[in-house]
Amino acid sequence: MTYDVVIIGAGPAGLSFARSLADTSLKIALVEKNSQATVANPAYDGRDIALTHLSLKILQRLGIWAHIPADAVSPIERAKVLDGTSDYALLFDSREEKFDALGYIVANNVIRQACYWAIKDLPTVDLITDTTVEHVFSDAQSASAVLTNGEILDCRLLVAADTRFSATRRKMGIGADLRDFARVAIVCQMEHEWSNDRTAFECFHYQRTLAVLPLAANRSSIVITAPTDKADEILYLSEADFNRDVQRRFANRLGKMTLITPRYHYPLVGVHAKQFIATRFALIGDAAVGMHPVTAHGFNLGLSGQDILSREIKAALNQGRDIGKARVLYAYQNQHMRVTKPLYLGTNTLVSLFTNDSLPVKALRKAVLHFSNHFEPIKWLIKKKLTDDSPKIHLPLVS
Ligand SMILES: Cc1cc2nc3c(=O)[nH]c(=O)nc-3n(C[C@H](O)[C@H](O)[C@H](O)COP(=O)(O)OP(=O)(O)OC[C@H]3O[C@@H](n4cnc5c(N)ncnc54)[C@H](O)[C@@H]3O)c2cc1C
Repeated sequence: MTYDVVIIGAGPAGLSFARSLADTSLKIALVEKNSQATVANPAYDGRDIALTHLSLKILQRLGIWAHIPADAVSPIERAKVLDGTSDYALLFDSREEKFDALGYIVANNVIRQACYWAIKDLPTVDLITDTTVEHVFSDAQSASAVLTNGEILDCRLLVAADTRFSATRRKMGIGADLRDFARVAIVCQMEHEWSNDRTAFECFHYQRTLAVLPLAANRSSIVITAPTDKADEILYLSEADFNRDVQRRFANRLGKMTLITPRYHYPLVGVHAKQFIATRFALIGDAAVGMHPVTAHGFNLGLSGQDILSREIKAALNQGRDIGKARVLYAYQNQHMRVTKPLYLGTNTLVSLFTNDSLPVKALRKAVLHFSNHFEPIKWLIKKKLTDDSPKIHLPLVS
């Protein structure tokens, strides 16, 4: 079989990239190891994704947003960062900037399903499910993906969106900086007695961090990060004890708290590929950059990265150039790397700062919060990163 583009992985990055190319005549294969039913109806996986204004704009432009029900979107109007047991908070308020929200929360499975609906009837996209890409090859003329059934898909450009642990990345000889935080993220939803007032909280406790993201007035998404050796203690606490534990650690800010979903867990490993491209090959999504979730950048970067690559491909098509050539791919890599590298390094530094419990670091942390609260340029930069919807301006959150 011959295609123009073969995409490996029908996660949100692979699906949105296929949708981005839908207004071209390119013939696309999207290969996914999961079943058609799983791609069409992904189950809730505990991840509630905070989307920036740029992501919202891209999803709207791609027609993906139209498949997300309005009541599945929760705006974040305020954000508070707290350190230890102190009530002192670094504050962000969308009203100060006349925005309706700092960001929008949508469950990961809802995003995935909306992405699927946006591509499912496209005549130019073949979704090949229940199939794993086993081998990949490329040379100056073409690239190929060998499937589990032995079939070979030839193409002009091969794109891998096959998770942060991308096997394709390794097979194409691309290394990655990998940071194993030896921590785990435990995620779930809880109901609570008092309203969250559309406020997101990030609490850096000693050893553990606790994020509370507003879903509805009395329902929030909970993200606990803890050292890996403490994960089972949290995962297997009885529901009653878990409820009491979160309520206590959150200093009773929302009153009585009740678990309403299972607890899901994810290993915290940050990955940044050393290159995003090889001969007739590109990495997108988590396969290019897999972020620690504390700064909520993972899918936002995946979405902006695929947007850059699709723009470069369309520019090449308009000028009658080959879409798999180095010029197209380097243009993508240069733009995306410039955004992702400082964010990746900055996020890792932030994680080190806020999970290290030595006394000097605790003192530094308090100083950082106080300084950031009173030094408007820092708050402005962070807010701008969240709310700017221009693809041309990418300000790093921490650099
Ligand atoms: C706890 C947590 C909270 C998060 N919160 C946020 C947030 O608030 N904001 C944010 O922007 N991001 C967040 N993220 C990150 C976000 O979830 C990821 O960035 C995003 O899901 C990655 O999408 P992807 O398509 O790149 O990869 P994936 O979703 O991992 O999809 C990859 C797909 O490739 C398929 N695949 C793999 N190998 C093969 C193969 N060889 N052949 C065929 N198919 C293959 C897999 O089956 C899978 O369907 C969070 C992540 C976690 C863990």
